[in-house]
Amino acid sequence: MTVERQPNLKATDPEVYDLIQKQANYERTTLKMIASESYAIENVLEACGSILTNKYAEGYPGARYYEGNEFVDAIENLAIERGKALFGCEHMNVQPYSGSPANNAVYRALLNVGDKIMGVPVSDGGHLTHGWKVSFSGKDFVQIPYRPNQETGRLDMDEVREIARREQPKLIWAGMSAYPFKLDYAAFAEIAEEVGAYLVADIAHINALIIAGVHPDPVPYCDVVTSTAHKMLRGPRAGFIMSKIEDRYHEKYHPTSKWNLAKLIDRGVFPTLQGGPHMHAIAGMAAIFKYAQTDEFKSYGAQIVKNAQALCEELKALGRAIAGGGTETHLLLLDFRKEEFTGKDASQALAKCGIIANFNMVPGDQRSPSQTSGVRLGTSALTSVGMKEADMKKVAGWIDRVCANIGKIDEVAPQIRSEIAEFCGGFKFPGA
Ligand SMILES: *Cc1c(COP(=O)(O)O)cnc(C)c1O
Repeated sequence: MTVERQPNLKATDPEVYDLIQKQANYERTTLKMIASESYAIENVLEACGSILTNKYAEGYPGARYYEGNEFVDAIENLAIERGKALFGCEHMNVQPYSGSPANNAVYRALLNVGDKIMGVPVSDGGHLTHGWKVSFSGKDFVQIPYRPNQETGRLDMDEVREIARREQPKLIWAGMSAYPFKLDYAAFAEIAEEVGAYLVADIAHINALIIAGVHPDPVPYCDVVTSTAHKMLRGPRAGFIMSKIEDRYHEKYHPTSKWNLAKLIDRGVFPTLQGGPHMHAIAGMAAIFKYAQTDEFKSYGAQIVKNAQALCEELKALGRAIAGGGTETHLLLLDFRKEEFTGKDASQALAKCGIIANFNMVPGDQRSPSQTSGVRLGTSALTSVGMKEADMKKVAGWIDRVCANIGKIDEVAPQIRSEIAEFCGGFKFPGA
């Protein structure tokens, strides 16, 4: 039985309605293994679909540029208070429209155009906004790259230290989009301290693991921590920024400013970068920050890693190579460097069979970024619908079958696709 969620669209705008229904049907009959995706909880969907989308509230609670803010002030304050309790941070800003604007706000808050920053290139698992050339961050700032070791797939913190000493960046990003191992924030903090750089953790991909206590917590070590509220957190499509209150580099980098770090960050978001905050998304953030404090959410966070490890072990048992040999997080990289087919061939074949993922560079990749030798697989979405280790064994079996049949995928796809659709029928998909 499906609940009718969009009765008005259904009645008067069947074009939009039908496309939403098709996507919903697709999502409940396929395996969502894109590592950055999961399923937003029902409370988030309701908050995001509310009348709060109407309100203009430029500014911050208690200091807006528009009237009529009694209730939206209360909503934003609630999101901030819950978020601070959840992460134990000193300051939180919940207004960034998404993860990229959150990171952009940090640049605008702390740096000048032309400054040097350290980040991991996209081709090595980093994010666009950490200084990649085609992004604003690489156009306005100078990326000093550091990357995981090409053999081990892991960051070598001695190498990171060497690069930082040599280049003296003003800011160091710690956080990636395709890195299967834990980050050592204590080591990053020592390096940042030594060279006098801001340390910014970007936890968009791993926030639920931090909440669950299965990944180190960056908050005590970093000047600033940025995140998305969607991805594995299961919240609205939005971003948020946490920071310390005091700017430890006030004398060094902002001697004439009258603002502390918290105020610099707030100013970086509004008015430097954004206008009116998305109040419906902020209400969704308040909703997910409540749910994320429950034991149920913490078990979900821990289960994500157990599932990724179970998937990884089964794939290895089936003879598939995994970059770096394993995972400590929600994601793993299938390594096709020794195969005839590319990462792109594999991701397209997987999609035909109902396994939705993305092709991705792996450490030591000789193929181009548009072909690659890897596929990135994440377990957040599957875990959010209740899948466990035994289910991962089945998923690994399908992935292996697809990889073994890339050359004749159109012959085997209908059978695998229907097995997966039937399997998915046993789980409940929020909102779909
Ligand atoms: C996804 C991601 C972001 C940006 O998020 P968007 O909401 O897509 O702009 C930032 N940093 C990292 C590490 C990410 O993986």
